Amino acid sequence: MSMTQNRCTFCGSQIERGTGIMYVLNNGSVLWFCSSKCFKYYKMKKDPKKLAWTNRYMSRGRR
Ligand SMILES: [Zn+2]
Repeated sequence: MSMTQNRCTFCGSQIERGTGIMYVLNNGSVLWFCSSKCFKYYKMKKDPKKLAWTNRYMSRGRR
């Protein structure tokens, strides 16, 4: 059985086991966040692609 590491729902970075914030949606889906910062930004409905500090950031001109 392989243990897959969780990735932050917001910024996409890996979350060490035993750390991070688990958030359960009304539909039963489980989201993980690496930090309260990411959780906060998620709740503010920010787009991680537009934030330079996330792994999902996409600057124009980069592929
Ligand atoms: Zn994160």
